[in-house]
Amino acid sequence: MALRRGLSSRWRGFLGRWSQDIAIDLGTANTLVYVRGRGIVVREPSVVARDKVSGAVLAIGEEAKAMLGRTPPGIDAIRPLKDGVIADFDVAEEMLRYFIHRVHRRRAFVHPTVAIGIPSGVTEVERRAVRDATLRAGAREALLIEEPMAAAIGAGLPVSSPTGSMVVDIGGGTSEVAVIALNGVVAGRSVRVAGDEIDEAIVSYMHYEFDLAIGIRMAEHIKLAIGSAYPMDEEERVTIARGRDLVSGLPRSVEVSEAQIREGIVEPLRGIVEAIKATLEETPAELSADVMERGIVLTGGGALLRGIDRMLKEEMQMPVRAAEDPMSCVVIGAGRALEQMDKFAEAFEPVG
Ligand code: ADP
Ligand code: MG
Repeated sequence: MALRRGLSSRWRGFLGRWSQDIAIDLGTANTLVYVRGRGIVVREPSVVARDKVSGAVLAIGEEAKAMLGRTPPGIDAIRPLKDGVIADFDVAEEMLRYFIHRVHRRRAFVHPTVAIGIPSGVTEVERRAVRDATLRAGAREALLIEEPMAAAIGAGLPVSSPTGSMVVDIGGGTSEVAVIALNGVVAGRSVRVAGDEIDEAIVSYMHYEFDLAIGIRMAEHIKLAIGSAYPMDEEERVTIARGRDLVSGLPRSVEVSEAQIREGIVEPLRGIVEAIKATLEETPAELSADVMERGIVLTGGGALLRGIDRMLKEEMQMPVRAAEDPMSCVVIGAGRALEQMDKFAEAFEPVG
């Protein structure tokens, strides 16, 4: 037995030098790629710019995101994921292929094993779509892991223990709430209320309160500059919103404050609170007692919204903290699960 274990780990070490296993977080807003031994090597918006007529891909990632909302006629800037799942299969495959190849620049024929996150509660058809897109993009094998599970591993939560941990991943398209114990999601919810909905709420707020039409990118810019979920002690910040006056039709700039934007985004934040409450209601009592005591860990870009921890702490009456580097938790967790397959095998999802 000892000999067999010795041999197999040496054999694994030998293979490990050649295999190029990677983990991918294919998010609605951002795609991240993690390579064993190298860390995170790609961090780009999940956006593809295409020629409307020929379908040719013109740009992927940051460059394509810059075209969103300002594409010249003839060009489409597409986000191939919507509400956490693949909405445009061909474009998603193209984007995955580009990111996988970028990692293996000089070794075009390497076919890596890929661990890839999927939102919890997606249908079998949606799972297969992710797996097939990953395989067609050049992976030898695609291992699916539920995003909240990966996020929890990446945030360093004790997912293998019988103690319940709660993770709330607030991304672009979806927020994923999950209670995890013994390498499985015990209770969870995926709701379509996250960063994009917050941006849309800012668009409506500017429309109704200022008679100003702004684009979705300006809304995100305002959120990043002064967005908050809870009034902070320091002086309130302000920023300039640029858009088109709904009355005159001409370009106009207005100053908007942190408090105003906070009022504008109350609704989507309430949606996230409701999802957490609903998940706790269906969590077995022992585990919800663990969560009450140990608190909630926030991951995803939404965890960076100023004061969201304070707001949730007050709403839920339990400890809440953002994970370190919250936007990287899913890809780091998926990568760690792949590296420690013996420990985390159960964390991966079977696909039919
Ligand atoms: P996904 O997993 O869906 O790709 P991410 O976890 O990458 O999403 O998070 C993207 C979302 O986080 C976007 O809606 C973005 O606007 C938001 N976000 C990023 N940084 C901040 C911040 N500092 N404050 C508020 N929201 C942020
Ligand atoms: Mg995500």
